[in-house]
Amino acid sequence: MEGSTAVGTQYVYDFSEGSADMRELLGGKGANVAEMTRILGAERVPAGFTITTEACVQYMRDGAEPDGLDAQVDQALARLEERAGKRLGDPDDPLLVSVRSGARESMPGMLDTVLNLGLNNDSVRGLARATGNERFAWDSYRRFVQMFGNVVRGVPGERIEEEIAGLKARRGVELDTDLRVEDLRELVTTFGSLYREQTGEDFPQEPREQLRQAIRAVFDSWNGERAVQYRRLNRIPDEWGTAVNVQQMVFGNKGETSGSGVAFSRDEVTGAAEPSGDFLVNAQGEDVVSGVRNTQELAELARVMPDAHAELLEILRTLERHYGDMQDTEFTIEDGRLYLLQTRSAKRPAQAAVRFAVDAVEEGLLDKAQAVATIDAASLEALLHPTFDPDVDYKVLSKGVAASPGAAKGEIVFRAGDAVAAAEEGREVIDIDLAEGTLRVGDTVLHAGDRIAINGTTGDVTVDEVPLIDPEMTEQFRTVLRWSDDLRRLGVRTNADTPGDARRARDFGAEGIGLCRTEHMFMAADRQPKMRAMIMAGTEEERRAALNKLLPHQQEDFEGLFEAMEGLPVTIRLLDPPLHEFLPHHHEVKQEVERARIEQADDLPELERTLERVSQLAETNPMLGTRGARLGILYPEIFEMQVVAVVRAARAVRERTGQAPHVEIMVPLIDYEQELEFLRGRIVAAAAREGAREGEDFTVGTMIELPRACFVADRIARHADFFSFGTNDLTQTALGFSRDDIEGKILAKYIDRRILDRSPFETIDRPGVGWLVRLAAWVGREARPDLKLGICGEHGGDPDSIQFFSDAGLDYVSCSPYRVPVARVAAAQAAIRAE
Ligand code: PEP
Ligand code: MG
Repeated sequence: MEGSTAVGTQYVYDFSEGSADMRELLGGKGANVAEMTRILGAERVPAGFTITTEACVQYMRDGAEPDGLDAQVDQALARLEERAGKRLGDPDDPLLVSVRSGARESMPGMLDTVLNLGLNNDSVRGLARATGNERFAWDSYRRFVQMFGNVVRGVPGERIEEEIAGLKARRGVELDTDLRVEDLRELVTTFGSLYREQTGEDFPQEPREQLRQAIRAVFDSWNGERAVQYRRLNRIPDEWGTAVNVQQMVFGNKGETSGSGVAFSRDEVTGAAEPSGDFLVNAQGEDVVSGVRNTQELAELARVMPDAHAELLEILRTLERHYGDMQDTEFTIEDGRLYLLQTRSAKRPAQAAVRFAVDAVEEGLLDKAQAVATIDAASLEALLHPTFDPDVDYKVLSKGVAASPGAAKGEIVFRAGDAVAAAEEGREVIDIDLAEGTLRVGDTVLHAGDRIAINGTTGDVTVDEVPLIDPEMTEQFRTVLRWSDDLRRLGVRTNADTPGDARRARDFGAEGIGLCRTEHMFMAADRQPKMRAMIMAGTEEERRAALNKLLPHQQEDFEGLFEAMEGLPVTIRLLDPPLHEFLPHHHEVKQEVERARIEQADDLPELERTLERVSQLAETNPMLGTRGARLGILYPEIFEMQVVAVVRAARAVRERTGQAPHVEIMVPLIDYEQELEFLRGRIVAAAAREGAREGEDFTVGTMIELPRACFVADRIARHADFFSFGTNDLTQTALGFSRDDIEGKILAKYIDRRILDRSPFETIDRPGVGWLVRLAAWVGREARPDLKLGICGEHGGDPDSIQFFSDAGLDYVSCSPYRVPVARVAAAQAAIRAE
C-alpha cells in the first residue's frame, strides 16, 4: 500500500524518497525539490524532508496534527542531522532549517515561510563562532525572531518595519546591511518584546518547539483569508491542503561572496531564450521577493560572481531539458557555492508561453504536440485584448512592471474581497491591497471607486480615459495556432451576428458561424419601430404586412454575414426570445399613459393599445415561456419571413460573388419531435416558394437545449440535419437555475461553501449537463449516423469544457470571436490528451 507503513500512514518523506510525479502528496515544491535532488545531486540541493498534503488535510479535518506525525518528524530530523553533521539547536554549530509551504499548485506569496529556524539565545553565539561571522549570525537571528513572530504568531508586520526604520533613522543609515552587530542584537531584543506583547509568552527557545509551531502555522496559512481568495480566483480546490518542506538552510547573507535570487530559464516576460531574474548580494531569499532592497538583474551576476553565474546557466538548461518546460528557480550562493532551492514550471504571460513553444520546437527541445501542451490556452485571450491607442497621448501617473501586453481600465478597490465582489457584479476593477483607503502618487490622491488605466506593455499607469484598440497577432502566435489546427479533431466556429464580428472571428481562424442570434438584429434603432408594429399587429394580415417591412433589413443582415464568411458554413438561428423583450417596460408605458391622460394627448389611444399588448405578452417566467420554437408555432409567419430573407440573401450573394453560401437554418428550444417536424415543414415550404431546395441550398437543424430534447434526441434527429447544443439554456433547465437570478447572489455563496468550484455557466457541469450532452449525442447518432453535432453555448470557449466536448465526440464548438484562438489551442490539447 503506497504511502502506508506497517504502523500507519507515512506523513513524512525525505527529499531523496520523492519525485516529480508525487505532486499530489508532496505538493509542487516538495515533488520538484525531490526531483531536482535526483537530477542535480545532493551537493547542489540542500537536504530536507516534506510533510505531506495528507497530513495537512487531516489536521484541517481534526483540528490537530495526525497521530504519528510528531514521531515521524523526529525521525526525519534525526536523518537530516545525520546527513548535515549538525544538530538543531546545537549551542556550538547549529543546524538551521527553513520551513516552507508548498501546495499542489503554486500560490505565490499566499502561504507561510519561516527561515533560520533553530536559532536561540545560545545557538546564535555558536553560529557566530562556527562561521567566524558575528554579523551574519545576529542578522540571521533577528530575521528569524521577526519572521517567526510575524508569520507564526501574528506580530504585525508594520510594527516590525517601524522598529527597523526607527533604528536605521537613529543610526543615520539607509540599508539593512548597514546595521551593525549591536544594532541587530538590539532588534532581537525589541522583536522579543513585541512577541511578548502579542502573545503573552516569551519567544520559544526550544528548537523542536519552534519547528512544531512553524509546521502548524503553515497548515493554518492554508485557510488564511488571502489564500482562500486566491484559491477562489484561481479555482484551486480547498480540499487539497498544503505540504510543508523542511530544508537545511544555506546562507546568502554571509557577506559579499554570498547572495540569493530567483532565475527563469528564459526571459520571464517575453519568453526569449535568455535567462532572466533578480538577485541580491549578501541577502536571504526573502529580501529578493519582499522588495525591501532594490534587486540586481540576473545578467549582472556574471560580473559579480562569474563562476556561480555560469554554473547557474548550465543548471537552468539541464532543468529545462529534464522538465521539457520553462523553469522558475530559487537559488542561494553561500561563500561562492551555488545551491538550488526549488524549481517549477514558470508561470508566464501569454506572449512568453507562445514564444517558448515556438522556440522549444525550433531548438529540438519539444515536438509540436508537446510544445502546444505547455500553453495555458485560456491565457491566450490576453494577446487579443485591446491595447492603448498608440496615437493618443496620456499623462503617466506612475510606472509599474511591464508584465503583459494589453491594457486594463477599471475602478480601484483596496481589498481582495471587494474585488471579488465587484467582479461578480460584472464591474471592472483594479485591486490594490492596502490597509489605507487611499492611493497617493505625488500630489494625486485616488480613492476606491476612482478609475485608472494600466498599459501592460509599458507598465504605465494613468487616470486618463485612453481609448483602446485591437492588437495585431504575432507570427509566433500564428505558428502555434497552425500547429494546433494540425493536431485538433474538433472544429472551431464562432457566435457572430454582425459582419464585423464575423470578419474578426475569421481572422482569428473561425471555420464558420455556429450561431447567429437573429434577435440581436431587431434591436437596432431603425428596426425597433418596425418590430414593434409587427408585435402590435392585431391580425395575421397586419402582422404579415409588418414583417414585409422587416424583410429587407433581415436580408441585408444575412448578405453581410454570408459575404464575410464566404465559403464557410453559417448557422442562422430563427428568432428566440419572448416578444415583449422588444416592447418598452410595463411601468414606463403606464407612466406615459397617465401623462397622456392628464395632458389629453393625441397619442393616448396608441399608448393604451401598447400598454394592453405589453400586459398580454408579459410572462412570469419568460425564460420558460413563449420563446423559440413555441413562438414559431404561435406565429409561423415570423420564422417564414426569416427563411425568405435567408434564401434571398444567399441568392443575392451567389449572384454577386459566384459562390453559394453554405446555409444552415436552426430552430431554437425544441422539446418535442413534433415541434421540429411541424416547423421544418413550414421552413422547407417557405424556402421552396422562393425556389430554394432543402439539402442543396440549405439544411435544417435544431438547438438541443432542453433536457427532454436530450432524452428523445433519436426522435428529434429524424427531423434534423444537425444538432447544436445550447448549453446556456441546457444548464439553466437541467439545473433549474435561472441564470439572471442565480449568478450574482447564489453561485458566489455556493462557491464560498464549496458546493461548487466554478460557475456551471462558465464550465460545463460534466456529471449532470455533460451527461445529457453525451446521451443526446449518442442516441441522436444512433438514429442518424451522419448527424452533425456542435455546441454554441458559452462553454464553447472554455478550455476545460472543450476537452469534454472533444471527448464526447462532437464535431465543432462555437464561441465568441475573441475565444476562437483559445478554442483552437484547447481543442488541440484535448486531442493530445486523448492520445
Ligand atoms: C444556449 O442556450 O446555449 C444558446 C447558445 O442560446 P442563447 O444563449 O441565445 O439562449
Ligand atoms: Mg438558448
